[in-house]
Amino acid sequence: TLQGKTALITGSTSGIGLGIARALAQQGAHIVLNGFGDANEIAALQAGLTQDYGVQSTYHPADMSRPQEIAAMMQFAAAKFGSVDILVNNAGIQHVADIEDFPVEKWDAIIAINLSSAFHTTRLALPAMKEKNWGRIINIASAHGLVGSAQKSAYVAAKHGIVGLSKVTALENAQTGVTCNAICPGWVLTPLVQKQVDVRAANEDVSNDDAKKGLLAEKQPSGEFVTPEQLGALAVFLCSEAANQVRGAAWSMDGGWTAQ
Ligand code: NAD
Repeated sequence: TLQGKTALITGSTSGIGLGIARALAQQGAHIVLNGFGDANEIAALQAGLTQDYGVQSTYHPADMSRPQEIAAMMQFAAAKFGSVDILVNNAGIQHVADIEDFPVEKWDAIIAINLSSAFHTTRLALPAMKEKNWGRIINIASAHGLVGSAQKSAYVAAKHGIVGLSKVTALENAQTGVTCNAICPGWVLTPLVQKQVDVRAANEDVSNDDAKKGLLAEKQPSGEFVTPEQLGALAVFLCSEAANQVRGAAWSMDGGWTAQ
């Protein structure tokens, strides 16, 4: 149980982040949500966490591409709940293009949101975690943290980077109760991936279902999507005492993608 702990999950208004927030709330952790979206929908997500799991929850709208807003979010979380015990760096975006056509501002945004934001939240969360001698930092990397794919230069670079950051964070705290690990999901059917399904359906003039099958067939041997609930369960395990000695791992949950 994570009762009495506080978890902050970046990019938790949708997809994987929301799945992990729910799973941690189910274990009793108070939740700090973050991410973009409609104010009413976010308020409903927050109310849902309290109703379903009896935990407190709050929300901060910090843009993960802006270090000052990240600092404001970390201060807000500490003021509200005392400290952040579980930090899940999940916010991320994608852009697909060949390197020579890759918009420079997209490169900068992906590196800032998918990689640098985790450096900022981590450096700001560590002092309180070390003081308590307990903490969990979980970085949501990707199969693309371990292998590449064409047309995803910024994303693959950022995800390889966050796998490296996870190792260093783990090593610097190896003799404390603070662990850090990366989770490397394969395809998960979230809005981020649905966009890629839509492009594929249009390019190949096939149905939504066939585009999904095509996407999976290319990379994911199981032929099935990973789910936010499964990733939530893995995050809960990494937060447990049983995972005390899991440090600096890049833990795949990818339907066999990187086994090939
Ligand atoms: P999603 O689009 O459903 O959710 C992304 C979340 O990040 C949303 O809450 C969004 O509001 C938030 N976000 C985006 N830009 C932000 C910013 N600048 N500041 C704050 N929040 C911001 O996507 P998802 O698929 O759930 O992706 C979550 C993470 O999982 C990402 O890091 C992604 O790279 C990673 N991932 C996804 C897949 C997949 O197949 N979906 C696979 C591997 C890894």
